[in-house]
Amino acid sequence: MLTDSYGRVHRDLRVSLTDRCNLRCTYCMPAEGVPWTPTPELLTTDELLRIVDTAVSAGITEVRLTGGEPLLRPDIVDVVRGIASMTSNDGEPVEVSMTTNALRLPRLAEPLKEAGLARVNISLDTLRPDRFQQMARRDRFDDTMTGIAAADAAGFHPLKLNTVLLRGVNDDEAADLLRWSVERGYELRFIEQMPLDGGHIWQRSEMITGAEILAMLREEFELTEMPGRGAAPAERFLVDGGPSTVGVIASVTMPFCGACDRLRLTADGQLRSCLFARGETDLRTPLRDGSSEEEITALIHACLASKLPGHGINEPGFLQPPRPMSAIGG
Ligand code: SAM
Ligand code: SF4
Repeated sequence: MLTDSYGRVHRDLRVSLTDRCNLRCTYCMPAEGVPWTPTPELLTTDELLRIVDTAVSAGITEVRLTGGEPLLRPDIVDVVRGIASMTSNDGEPVEVSMTTNALRLPRLAEPLKEAGLARVNISLDTLRPDRFQQMARRDRFDDTMTGIAAADAAGFHPLKLNTVLLRGVNDDEAADLLRWSVERGYELRFIEQMPLDGGHIWQRSEMITGAEILAMLREEFELTEMPGRGAAPAERFLVDGGPSTVGVIASVTMPFCGACDRLRLTADGQLRSCLFARGETDLRTPLRDGSSEEEITALIHACLASKLPGHGINEPGFLQPPRPMSAIGG
């Protein structure tokens, strides 16, 4: 079992497949000048699957693929198939899910479903093409919509959508986005903007808090808190009595670190115990130097032992980690 010094059992591995992206969302990446990880430093498909397999033997039961944009990885279907064929220690197949901007889903939704991808979360911050261009710095609103429809058609249900609200940009769309999602049977989740962007634009005073989001939604919907959150980051609510739900991930104002069960592997093979960790454990070099599965397992446990009780965003002296969200994997 992957238990840390605070008794938290870790079952969820977030794997970043690339730090590259075909969008440039302002809250995530700067417009230009992003230093991409050179290809030789990226884990190959085989290396990636070996590390995931070792983590699964150590206690991981769920793997979420992310990035950057995970669908930019040419071997994405093979990666999904390889992980979906692994069996966790409880005898069940490893559950593979993905967070994506959906741009490549029209071509990939069906093959990914067939390869064993269980769930998809799609980022959608606005229903207005002009705002999409402003927020993502690319004119790809229609492609995103086509991608969402492709995921729906391929049978990824319930489809989850992630939204980041920015003050004065798209914060007047909270209710519209929820209505749109409810009408289509999608589960919308609002994520508080976190200090993880490559452009360092995050400001606490500008962030739209979970409490503000709920207040905006309650002007138009009746929200009933749902029990049984477990280790899930989202606090979930029934919308107008259900069955539709909405989630709020208030990582900054209502941290859920006490129930965290996540480890993160970057595309260049560094294991992180937290999005906000300032240190990381290199698994790529020992793997390439021929370390055994036991030695890699020992490194995973060492990384876990370094995990702090909380992310510390609200403490004096908090420092944003050197890696931005796009290079850690959200
Ligand atoms: N490219 C994919 C996508 O956008 O879904 C996967 C990677 S992206 C880093 C994963 C999630 O992190 C997205 O839902 C995105 O909105 C969210 N995200 C990125 N930067 C963030 C930030 N500074 N604060 C909160 N969420 C952020
Ligand atoms: Fe790309 Fe996702 Fe970051 Fe947007 S949030 S720039 S889609 S990695």
